[in-house]
Amino acid sequence: MTDMNVPDTLLAAREAVATKQISAVELTRATLARIEKNDPTIKAFNSLAVERALQQAALVDDGQRTGPLAGVPIALKDNLCTNWGTTTCSSKMLANFRAPYDAHVVQKLEQAGAVFLGKTNLDEFAMGSSTENSAFGATRNPWDTARVPGGSSGGSAAAVAAGLCCGAIGSDTGGSIRQPAALCGVVGLKPTYGLVSRWGLVAFASSLDQIGPLTWTVSDCAALLNVLVGPDRRDSTCIDQPAPDYLAQLNQPIKGLRLGVAKEFSAAQGIDPRVQAAVNQAIQQYQAMGAELVDISLPHTDYGIAAYYVIAPCEASSNLARYDGVHFGHRTAHAVDDIVELFSRSRAEGFGEEVKRRIMIGTYALSSGYYDAYYNRALKVRRLIKQDFDQAFGRCDAIICPTSPTPAFAIGERTSDPLSMYLADTFTVTCNIAGICGISLPCGFTDGPRPLPIGLQLLGPAFGESTILRAARMYEQATDWHRRRPAGQSQVAREG
Ligand code: GLN
Repeated sequence: MTDMNVPDTLLAAREAVATKQISAVELTRATLARIEKNDPTIKAFNSLAVERALQQAALVDDGQRTGPLAGVPIALKDNLCTNWGTTTCSSKMLANFRAPYDAHVVQKLEQAGAVFLGKTNLDEFAMGSSTENSAFGATRNPWDTARVPGGSSGGSAAAVAAGLCCGAIGSDTGGSIRQPAALCGVVGLKPTYGLVSRWGLVAFASSLDQIGPLTWTVSDCAALLNVLVGPDRRDSTCIDQPAPDYLAQLNQPIKGLRLGVAKEFSAAQGIDPRVQAAVNQAIQQYQAMGAELVDISLPHTDYGIAAYYVIAPCEASSNLARYDGVHFGHRTAHAVDDIVELFSRSRAEGFGEEVKRRIMIGTYALSSGYYDAYYNRALKVRRLIKQDFDQAFGRCDAIICPTSPTPAFAIGERTSDPLSMYLADTFTVTCNIAGICGISLPCGFTDGPRPLPIGLQLLGPAFGESTILRAARMYEQATDWHRRRPAGQSQVAREG
């Protein structure tokens, strides 16, 4: 097989291995060769597991490993614990951390026969929207390497878009799967809070964090989600119910799909006209397919960013207290007088700027006298945002809106202005705040010599994954965006 024929989509790879058009070892080697060639530019991976990947693949070829992902090369965000290699969270704090166990999703993927290529770059502790806040350097967008891939799962999104894996796992606290998926032209899904166990995911904001898939196609997304879901007693928020087979249900179009269009989303400031135009066209496409548009209102949307940037830092300040150089993480080599100095020097050396900013904001907002004014008030806003969605989903099956207000921005463009970086999350945070599900899929490209992908977001009610996947699949079947590839990669001509 020539490199051009090596599949870059998950289901095609699974099929090729299952029918022995390619061996799992050959597929792994071909993918590793692409990484060797292109990752020095893209920088999607923090670390590779070459030997281990080839061993896992050889076991598939020997028939000793089977399952729905047998032989499929997968990349893992570097905040998922693995009992091999390092789990760094792209932080100096955990640069040498070797987790003693595999995260629940890593175990599930392993049991499904997946081949792990390595760990992907992220904004430090998943705090950011560009993957520039990484102690190991920024990841580049495969469509234009002068631009960011989005974040915080930028390494995972870029790895998929650059053909460096057939699917990747990310985490999403305020948009970190969907926004990089949008900026890299791939599909990314944030599951409902409670659908996927976070056991072994390094916690950022525990009431918001979820793990989910990044892939080229909606079918690949459903196939990967099928493996991630399921009960786990080690995460008490994980629901104790078997999940449906998302892939089996995928090709049933939804008759009379009711799509909510929120006036607050379309009127939002800062939305790039190219994004608005592409999303408007997608809405028309849905209408042409028989969907009914429903005007809805999500009146508290405007407070989403403010509430998120109180709640998430509060939880982070608590979750990150364990990195003190004693319990976990980097310890200063400096001579110290007492334990307090040991803690403070270790933390000052180990954490990057953005993480420190969040810890300070969170500690302040939780402190006596400010708790009610900030944290409690943010929780009240959270309830109102949730009520907005509850009411909206009484009238529609899914809500349609942009994923990101802009296409990929230039590296360095927003690093000195945290507020402008936070605004990248305008359309994604309310989904986490309300605990519902959301998917991003490509819906167009900008013009020009280096076209940039534009992402469409579909939000669904809690445990409405099947609905948003089927609705996304309807759109994908009617369009060709998912077949485009960045320059230098072979384009996908047939159904992928
Ligand atoms: N960009 C958001 C933040 O910086 C969301 C991050 C995430 O979802 N992990 O917090």
